[in-house]
Amino acid sequence: MDAKPVMLIVDDVEINRVVLSQFFQDEYAIVEAADGQEAMDALAAQTVSIVLLDLVMPVMDGFAVLAAMKRNDQYAQIPVIVMTAHNDGSSEERALELGAADFIVKPYNPTVVRCRVKNVMARQENEWRKVAQVAQDRQLAEMHRHIEKDALTGIDNREAFYRRTAALLQKNQDAAYSILYFDISCFKVINDIFHLDTGNLVLKTAAIYFQVLAGEAGTCGRIESDHFALCLPSAKVDMDNIMAGLDSTVKSLGLSHSIVFYAGVYPVDNAFLPVDQMCDRANMALTSIKGSYLQRHAYYDKSMRDRMFEEQMIVRDMEFALMARQFCVYLQPVHSLKENRIVSAEALVRWQHPTQGMIPPDRFISIFERNGFISRLDRFVWTEVCRIIKEQKARDGKALPISVNVSRLHFYDAGLLDFQLRLVKTYDLEPWMFRLEVDESAYTDNPYQMAQCVRALREHGFCVLLDDFGSGYSSLNMLKDLPVDGIKIDRSFVREVGQSERAGTIMEAIVTMAKKLAMGIVVEGVETKEQVDYLAGIGCENMQGYYYSRPVPEAEFAALLRNEADA
Ligand code: C2E
Ligand code: CA
Ligand code: CA
Repeated sequence: MDAKPVMLIVDDVEINRVVLSQFFQDEYAIVEAADGQEAMDALAAQTVSIVLLDLVMPVMDGFAVLAAMKRNDQYAQIPVIVMTAHNDGSSEERALELGAADFIVKPYNPTVVRCRVKNVMARQENEWRKVAQVAQDRQLAEMHRHIEKDALTGIDNREAFYRRTAALLQKNQDAAYSILYFDISCFKVINDIFHLDTGNLVLKTAAIYFQVLAGEAGTCGRIESDHFALCLPSAKVDMDNIMAGLDSTVKSLGLSHSIVFYAGVYPVDNAFLPVDQMCDRANMALTSIKGSYLQRHAYYDKSMRDRMFEEQMIVRDMEFALMARQFCVYLQPVHSLKENRIVSAEALVRWQHPTQGMIPPDRFISIFERNGFISRLDRFVWTEVCRIIKEQKARDGKALPISVNVSRLHFYDAGLLDFQLRLVKTYDLEPWMFRLEVDESAYTDNPYQMAQCVRALREHGFCVLLDDFGSGYSSLNMLKDLPVDGIKIDRSFVREVGQSERAGTIMEAIVTMAKKLAMGIVVEGVETKEQVDYLAGIGCENMQGYYYSRPVPEAEFAALLRNEADA
C-alpha cells in the first residue's frame, strides 16, 4: 500500500502536470486533474494532503476551485499552492485572499517549487500540531478537573481535599483550624426507599451547603459515599449553627423521610499530621455518637484514640488468643431463695491477656460482634460449658444447668441448632442443662428468623431465656411473639427499684406477668440485702449478683457447690 501523502496537481496543460509530477513523485502519491471539476472529484475520492492549482483553466478555473474548497469544511484545511503563468500581481493577491497558502510563477524552477511546497507543508504540520496541542491541553485540563473533582457533587474529591487542606494548613500555621467530618445516618436506607436519584440529590445539596460554608477561608470535599469533610478556621466553627443550617438546607428538598447528619470535629492541634489522619480523628468523634438521638456532633479527644488503639490490639490478638486458650469461662451462681442454694449458673467469658491482664467482656464482645469473631468465641465458650457440666456430673453424680450467652449474630447462622445438638450429644448431656440466653437485639434485627430459631431450639429440649429484660424497648413485644422459658431481669432495673416507685410498680407487674405465663425469672445484679428483701417481697425467687457471688473461675465454682453440700 502506498503510504505516501497525496498531492493533487490541477492543470489543463498536460506537460505542466508531468513536470510537476516528476518533482514530487518520490515524496508524494500524485493525482492529476485537467480542470476544476476533475479536481473537485479527485478531492472527494481520496484524502489529499496538498493541492497545486493552476488558476487559468477551462470549465472551472482555479479561483472557483479554491473558493469551493474553502467553503467545504472537509477541504478547507488542505493547503493549496496556486500557479500563475506570468507575474500577475492581482491574481496572486486574489488567490491569497481566497485562502491559498502560496503561489508559484511559471515556468517552474524545480528548487523554488520544492522549497515552496516544503514550506507550506511544514506550516501546515505546525498548524495541525497546534490544533492537536490545544485539543490535548483541553483534554488534560478536563482530566485534571475529573481527578480533582468528585463526579457527582463537583466539589473536591478525597485526594484533592487532602492536598488542598494540607496546603491551607501549611500556609496558615499560626491560625487555628478544625476538621469537620459529616456522615448521613442510614444513607443506604434512603437509597433503598427512595430512588437513587433522591439519594444523589441529598448528596449534591449537602455538597453545595458545605462549599458555601468553606468559602474562601476553608476547604471541603467528599471523602466517600455519604462522607464529607471540611477544614474551617476554628473561629468559624459553631456546630449548632452549622448543623441547623445543614438540616434546613436538606429539609428544603421536601423529602418525606428525615435525613439525619452526624458530625465529628477534630480541632487541629498538630498541623503536620497527614490530613487523612485528621479526618480519621474527626470520624472517630463522629462514631462515638452515631445513632444517638440527642447528640448530633462530638469533638475528638485523646481517649477516643486510645480506644481505637485498644480495638486494634484486640482485633490483632484475638485469633492467637483463641488458639492459645487465653479465653476462659467464669461462672456466676444463680441463687434460689426458696431452696437456699445455688440452682444454676451463667457462663461469662474472660480474656486472660498475657500483657494486658484480665480483660472483661464489655471491652471485646461488641468488637467481636462487629467483625464476626463472636461466633467462634461463643462456640468455644459453649463447648467449655459442656465440658464443665460433664465433669461436674462425673464428679458429683449430678450437675446444675448452666446458661450461656448467644450473640445475635448466631441467628443469621443456619447451623446454630445443629451445632448445639452435636455438642450435647458429644458430651452426653440433656439439652435442658444447657440454657441459652438471648437478648432482644437479635429480635429487633430479624424477628421472624429469631422466632423460628427459638422455637426449633425449644422443640429440641433446649431452655431459652430472655436476657436483659426491661433494658430495651421491645421486651414486651418480644414476649408476645416469642415464647421463652424464662426471663432475666436486667440489673439496671434492680438498681432503680430501691429509688423509684415507678420502677417498683413495673417490676411487680413483670413478675406477676411472668408467673401467669409460667416463665421462670432470674433477677440480675442483686448487690444488697435490701434488694434481696424487696425482691423476695414481690415474689422473686432466683437471684444472681455480687450479693451472692461474683463470676468465679471453674474451680472456685466447684468449691462453692462443695461448701453448700457440706453445710
Ligand atoms: P450479661 O449477660 O448481662 O451478664 C451479666 C453481667 O453482669 C456480667 O458482666 C456480670 O459480671 C455482671 N454482674 C453480675 N452480677 C452483678 C452485680 O451484682 N452488679 C453488677 N454491677 N454487675 C453484675 P460481664 O461478665 O462483664 O459481662 C458483660 C456482658 O458481656 C454480659 O452481660 C454479656 O452480654 C456479655 N458476655 C459475657 N460473656 C459472654 C459470652 O461468652 N458470649 C457473649 N456473646 N456475650 C458475653
Ligand atoms: Ca447474660
Ligand atoms: Ca443479662
